[in-house]
Parts: sequence; C-alpha cells; structure tokens
Amino acid sequence: MQVSNHVHALRIPFTITTNMGVLDRFVYAFVIIHGSQICLIDTGVASSQQLIFDYIRQIGRKPEEIATIILTHSHPDHIGSVRSIKQITGCKVIAHSGEKEWIENVDKQFTDRPVPGFNSLVGGSVTIDRIVDEGEFIDLGDDLQLRVIHTPGHSKGSISLYAETDQVLFVGDVVPIPGDMPIYDDPLISIESIKKLKAYNKVNVLLSAWDEPKTASSIDKVLQDGVEYIQRLHNTVIEVVMAATSMEAVDICKRVLESLNLPLFMANPLVARSFIASLRYMEDVNRPK
Ligand SMILES: [Zn+2]
Repeated sequence: MQVSNHVHALRIPFTITTNMGVLDRFVYAFVIIHGSQICLIDTGVASSQQLIFDYIRQIGRKPEEIATIILTHSHPDHIGSVRSIKQITGCKVIAHSGEKEWIENVDKQFTDRPVPGFNSLVGGSVTIDRIVDEGEFIDLGDDLQLRVIHTPGHSKGSISLYAETDQVLFVGDVVPIPGDMPIYDDPLISIESIKKLKAYNKVNVLLSAWDEPKTASSIDKVLQDGVEYIQRLHNTVIEVVMAATSMEAVDICKRVLESLNLPLFMANPLVARSFIASLRYMEDVNRPK
C-alpha cells in the first residue's frame, strides 16, 4: 500500500509458537522508492524477502534495486530476512550502535533474549555497514532525507526516522497499542522517547511496525495512548509488587495482567521481562520524600 509520495507499507503476517499455543502476529516493513533505488525499513521475519520482492515487482520495480536497509532495531521480526536480502542484492545495512551486537551475532541475541521460535523467525546475522545516531541524516537522494531520532526504551538502540519531504514518521516498535502485548526494556525511557516523537508536529502519516498506518488527525492520540498505556503498566507493576511479600516474575506478570484486564496468554517471558524492568524504579518509589 502506498502511503506517501515515496513510501509503501507492507504488512507481513507471521506466527510465534509458544507453550501457550500458536500466536498470530504481524509486522510492517516499509519500501521507499527513491529515484532508481529502493530503501527498506526493516525486513519482517525470515523468508519475508519473497513477499517483499513480490510487492516490489508488483509496483513495476526490481528487487535488485534495493540499495539500503535501515533496521529500526534488532528484534527477530525486524531483522528476520535481512541476511538473505543483503546476500541477494549486496545492499548496505544501517542501524544504531545499541543494536549492533544483536544484529551481528544473532546467537548472542537468542542467549540474552530467548524469544520463542527465534530460529524460525531469524535468518541469520549480518554486518552493519553504517552506524547512525540521534540527529544524523540518511541521504537517499531524489530529494529525500531521513532524520534519525534515537528513541530507546523498547530496546536501547531503537531508532525512529522522519522524512520531512513526505511528512512521514517511522517509529518501529516504540509506540505500544493499549491492550496489545507490552514489550519494552525500560518503561520510563520508553515514555521519554514517545514524548520526543510528539515534538515532530509536521507529520501526515505515522508508520508503526505493529499497527496500521495512521493519518494526521489520529497521530497525537496514538502517541498519547502509548504513553498512558506504559504509565499504567508501570504503576500497576509497582502496586502489585509493593502489596506482595515475595513473588516470582511469572506471578507478578499474571497479577498485573489480571488487574488491567489483559488476557492471561500474555504471561510469557517477554512480557515478564517488560514488567520486571519497572522494578529498577522501586528504590526511588520507596525513598522518603
Ligand atoms: Zn521490537
């Protein structure tokens, strides 16, 4: 689906097999057509290259024109097919330094963060050709530049990208959807990052990896809902833990989900990891004012 002058959004369905059953998920990747070349933002899960290549052919272009892949971060559903696309096209890969280790060594990523079904979601490691950081521009030519916005919290090197000419903001997994599975490394840093995105007020389309494209009138609300959802989760984790004498991570996870009326199938290690991240702020909560 074309969403702006240069940008196309591609919805990629996939499944994760967990001990609670098979979860249906999807992720968006983005195809940017600039002159005679193509830039991808994220690559879906392993084997998504077929879907991406088919789409590129469908709009009358060639997969070999892919010159650049920008990875918003290193999680499996974003880097899944980067290795095969780089091998086929010889394109350059761009990411933030905070994600370098997990992109260049996916075995290390799996050891540190064992996502269920990891090996079927990720096609392998790749070398990053360019590291970018806050405020840098990625110049794609054809009058198109992407401004890099460092938006940590979901992961330490998550980046968002702003294309001023198209007034498009790519936010990766930075903005959670209320009611959906909450996955982040740090709740309060996530909130700061979403607030940073709010400062970009010339945005016609907001492109999140785990939501449909959003147009101008709904963007402020999407960002504010994301902030409030994380704040609510964080506050509930603190309340649950303060009320408990001793508790395993999985119990904390279930009680937080119960008190927010969220489905219990979300009680998996990734969500538990998000909730545990709130505990580092407990010391501050307990400190006398
Ligand atoms: Zn992610």
